[in-house]
Amino acid sequence: MLPQRVICQGCKHILYEGAELKPPDEIIHMYEGKCPKCAKKLSLLPTDVEVKPAR
Ligand SMILES: [Zn+2]
Repeated sequence: MLPQRVICQGCKHILYEGAELKPPDEIIHMYEGKCPKCAKKLSLLPTDVEVKPAR
């Protein structure tokens, strides 16, 4: 299983990085719906979180 990386589209802050795949809504819930760095509101829409393999 590939590692997962979820990045804030506002500031490129890494919201989650790990070998364990998490659904985006769980990651958003971890941050109470907003980016801890730029306070951008995170959405369940897949365009707001980027999931790609970490190199
Ligand atoms: Zn951000």
